[in-house]
Amino acid sequence: LAFVAALAALVFARGALAQEREDTVPGARLPASVAPKSYDAELSIDPAQPTFSGTITIHMRIEQPVDTLWLNATKLTLHEAKLLPADGKGEAISATIVPGSDDVVGLRFGQKIAAGTARVSIRYSGPIDAVSTSGVFRQKTGDAWYVYTQFEALDARRAFPIFDEPSFKARWRLTIVAPEGNRAFANMSIESERVSSPGFREFKFASTPPLSSYLVAFAVGPFDVLDAGTAGANRTAIRIIAPRGRASEAAFAARETGPILAALERYFARPYPFAKLDLIALPSAGFAMENPGLVVFGGKSLLARSDEVTPDFQQRFVATAAHELSHMWFGDLVTMAWWDDLWLNEAFASWLGTRITAELKPAWRWELGLAERRGWAIAADRLASSHPIRKPIAERNDVAAMFDGISYAKGQAVLTMMEAWLGPERFRDAVRRYIAAHEWGNATADDFVSALAQGDESVIASFRGFIDRPGVPLVDVALDCSAKPFVRFTQQRLLPVGAIGATVPPWSFPACVKYGDDKRSREQCMLVRATDTTMALDTPACPRFLVANRGGIGYYVPRLTRSGYAALDKSDKALGPADLVPLLSDVDMLAQSGALDYAVALTLSARYAAHPDPRVARAAFLILDHFPRALVSPQNSAHFAQWVKRNFRTRARALGWLPRGAESPDIAQLRELALPLVADLAQDEPLGHEARVLVARWQKNPRALPVQMRQGILVTAARSTRTGATALRDSYVAAALSPKRDENERQDLLAAIGAFRDPKLVQMGAALALDDRFEPRDAILPLQFALGDPITRPIALSWVDANVEPLLARSPRWVQGTWPEYVAGACSTDERTVFARAFATRAPRYEAGAVRYAEAIEAIDLCLALRGAQQSAVNVFFAAVR
Ligand SMILES: [Zn+2]
Repeated sequence: LAFVAALAALVFARGALAQEREDTVPGARLPASVAPKSYDAELSIDPAQPTFSGTITIHMRIEQPVDTLWLNATKLTLHEAKLLPADGKGEAISATIVPGSDDVVGLRFGQKIAAGTARVSIRYSGPIDAVSTSGVFRQKTGDAWYVYTQFEALDARRAFPIFDEPSFKARWRLTIVAPEGNRAFANMSIESERVSSPGFREFKFASTPPLSSYLVAFAVGPFDVLDAGTAGANRTAIRIIAPRGRASEAAFAARETGPILAALERYFARPYPFAKLDLIALPSAGFAMENPGLVVFGGKSLLARSDEVTPDFQQRFVATAAHELSHMWFGDLVTMAWWDDLWLNEAFASWLGTRITAELKPAWRWELGLAERRGWAIAADRLASSHPIRKPIAERNDVAAMFDGISYAKGQAVLTMMEAWLGPERFRDAVRRYIAAHEWGNATADDFVSALAQGDESVIASFRGFIDRPGVPLVDVALDCSAKPFVRFTQQRLLPVGAIGATVPPWSFPACVKYGDDKRSREQCMLVRATDTTMALDTPACPRFLVANRGGIGYYVPRLTRSGYAALDKSDKALGPADLVPLLSDVDMLAQSGALDYAVALTLSARYAAHPDPRVARAAFLILDHFPRALVSPQNSAHFAQWVKRNFRTRARALGWLPRGAESPDIAQLRELALPLVADLAQDEPLGHEARVLVARWQKNPRALPVQMRQGILVTAARSTRTGATALRDSYVAAALSPKRDENERQDLLAAIGAFRDPKLVQMGAALALDDRFEPRDAILPLQFALGDPITRPIALSWVDANVEPLLARSPRWVQGTWPEYVAGACSTDERTVFARAFATRAPRYEAGAVRYAEAIEAIDLCLALRGAQQSAVNVFFAAVR
């Protein structure tokens, strides 16, 4: 239809065609003919009110004369817009406001705006959201209201009518007027402050360097500020900003931020690019955001009372800060030109954040976490609905879908592999060249690849294979000792049983093997390019064992032969956690994909659950955690419980529910996973009883449960209570409603409310999603938890089916499109039918919804195919348990 209309215009009048084109409402992108140079914005914000008002003056450059100026604006009311005279003299020209779409608004001035520079001034107002944590939003903490912002990706347009695309970098000068008693913060320091009218204070901020609009941020409220000293080459001032009365909870963050900043400056060999560094706590949010000069941290990652400064909290803060501060260079100083290259922000910050955390905290063995991150990537990348790291964006709702395991974890894994292959120095020099070439500007994948390869075709070919097309190589690794020992690698795309995917050309990637006997081992690497490759081993004797992805550094999944897995018995002295953690993670992924018999995976899981290293044991417990329960037939469920008891309970009991004195974060993390899992799957009444006793103690004293174990203990008590479940549930609801509980405890309680298995209680938990006594973002937690448990999922899903419209209407904006993720573990045709009925036509209305729905349906179909392929073998395996 569009094609026909354009032809008709061409026939009748050229002028009309030009008119037609210019008046067409822009879609995901604005016309490139106009670009902003700077913005002057003044906002009046009262956190106690549901709306704000503002004026903005946009200085811009016009490349070609335009009739209509299109700007991004969402839910803003424009009261007046004027084209200001270029020379400061003459008359301003008033604009007609042209309605566009949910994302754009047009200004028409009755005459063309000539090429050159121009200034437009707009007076407008907009809502302050009380439900979602995006755009301009407000939250009540204690008895006071606070306003925050979150603009990435497409929500700066909810605060300002602007050119809201990352390539439109501009200088920002903000002024905020707020009632006395509030303080205001933004990307830059306050330049001047005064009483602007009785009862109101005006804060003028210094002008920013060129910034993409999604990085602009501000906050208004009666905050407290903790001075954290200075750090780095420019002695950058660091502060922590907390809700009133909570600055003392920032002591750990205040101590640790400076060294992270300094380590990053050393890596880049250039100072922190911005004028100051504030870290601001957003207690109820589950994200962090790299706004230059005003980095946002979700409540569980920045503030902690002294009894909450657990090893787990310490790791969360340092890793989050290292990631977000890496963005100051990767993202803020050099920004992707468009959202299709989001990985230039997220993969790089993930990779460098991990590197810096490992450097600063060697005792944490942070690099062992790479295998789990890689597992996140592969879980997405094995799907036919996966996408290349660099993915063209068809429409605006697909932008949010880019924030996924591919952009973050696959990108990180590929960078980790390239760094190991080229050597850390060559890689670091390429990073420095890339940053220097694009500082204060934008970049694309091509820019980084050429900075890295410097003409080396093998590097370009390898890198391109992983960023331009989807999928992960499955590499069969077979040892042949019929003559001089050699290894054969055979690669194909990893496609789970039931997946439909095209055959692909081979990838080229570095592969490393480790082999030996119980006393000695050695390593050997080569670049694998072809579908079939052999590697002669530097040994005359046949190795007793062989593993094929040390450290999980390579972005490929090696698959050993059956005898190769059996031979791991001979490797106990030679293989450490850097070998075993990725190996078990790969076994997990292969089994979930139907590419390896679950009998092999479960046998390895049972064997390594007893491993003395808690990280190896955790990788083994994760295989059990991810094992789809739908593979066990009802008549075998007692055998399954018996098998779990026999193989996993000893380790769980030895850990116990409570920490014993000082211990490593690894032990704490293993306990958090293992205890609730074994209590549930083994139906272990002693562990359930202990959890109920601990909950009874907590009911008298809320500090009685250690923070890291609180949710697991509350959940286990809920699941194991036979009589009195309703009373226990009521006590959880009452506690969650109590204003005395902080947001972290409330969230643990709400998850546990979703853990009760009595069908009536499952429905009541789900119904809290529509209960006005809870904030919408908290109210959905019981339902989300119940959807994740195979036993309660069918009931929770029926509730969703019956209430889907009000549920979607009441969900915070960023949750609406993600509901399908919570159902992706379903593994029955009945659940599939209900899920499709509820979401097939509704999900695409929301950000990321179409993509998340397609991924979830595929995951369900793959689990059904896995059941078909492996259920009988799995049941033979468990039936043998006596
Ligand atoms: Zn990030």
